[in-house]
Amino acid sequence: MNTTTLIRLQEKIEAIKKKLMTLEDMRPGSLSKQYNVCGKPICRCKDPVRPKKHGPYYQLSYTLDGQSRTEFVKQHQVKLVKKQIETFRLFRKLTNQWANLAWQMARLRATMDAPEKGTGGGRKKR
Ligand SMILES: [Zn+2]
Repeated sequence: MNTTTLIRLQEKIEAIKKKLMTLEDMRPGSLSKQYNVCGKPICRCKDPVRPKKHGPYYQLSYTLDGQSRTEFVKQHQVKLVKKQIETFRLFRKLTNQWANLAWQMARLRATMDAPEKGTGGGRKKR
């Protein structure tokens, strides 16, 4: 029974690997919209009645090599960046699933590797 479980886990991992191979352009991060007030003394963003701030500006925040970074994304690149972020999320999800399956396999193998009970002590190393 444990062997079939192992095979099933292995098959799931193989399926994840195949999905990972199909992933294309990706980048980590999350996109946020920002509206700014400029430095001009007279501007629509400082209108006393109906101020209209500049924007939206898109800001990408991400952590890479343990460092938090932010950068602005140009309007015409927003669509592409959103797609890349989506792909990265899928990448993370799949690798997490892989790690979880690998953990299950390791645990299962550890129990299978245990000395059998009542058969004279099982395997012994010297
Ligand atoms: Zn302004």
